[in-house]
Amino acid sequence: MEDAGKYFQEEIHFTPQTTLYILAPRHWSAIAAPALKEVYGFPHNIDHVRLAIAAEDNDFWRSFLPLIDQLPPATVADVNKAYRNADGTYSMMPFFDLLALHEMGHSYTAQAGLKMHRKWMGELFCKHYVAHFCCGKATCTFTCLRNLSQYGNKRR
Ligand SMILES: [Zn+2]
Repeated sequence: MEDAGKYFQEEIHFTPQTTLYILAPRHWSAIAAPALKEVYGFPHNIDHVRLAIAAEDNDFWRSFLPLIDQLPPATVADVNKAYRNADGTYSMMPFFDLLALHEMGHSYTAQAGLKMHRKWMGELFCKHYVAHFCCGKATCTFTCLRNLSQYGNKRR
C-alpha cells in the first residue's frame, strides 16, 4: 500500500488521505462498514478515507483458494508462485492485498473529485489503478489474479 502511494504520487502527483486499519478478528466488527461487519477479511473502503484490512488469514480468504489438483499445470505454477507458503500451505493474502489496493483506488477518485457517472466506471478506474501499479511491480501476482478469475468459480 505504501509502495502504491509513492508510485502514484510520482505518477499523478496526488495522494489521498488514508487511514489503514489492519484488524484482528476481535476488532473487525467495531471498525468495518455495517454491510461487512460479519465478513472478516473482506478489504473495503469504509468512507473514502478509512480502509479496513484483515491482519491474518481467515475462512473468507480460504474460500477463494482454487482446487489445485483441478487446475491446468501452467495455472498451478502461477498459483504456487503467488499463493503457496514456504510450509506448503496456501494463502490468498496476496490476492486480498490487491483487493485492498483496489479499495484505495476509490479514495483517489473520491478525494480527487473525479466524477464517476456510473458505478462501473469507478470500479473500472480501480481495476486499472491496480493493473497500472502491478504491471510495473508485481507481474506474477497480477497474472495469477487473472488466471484465477478463469478457474475460481469452478470450486463451488
Ligand atoms: Zn471497487
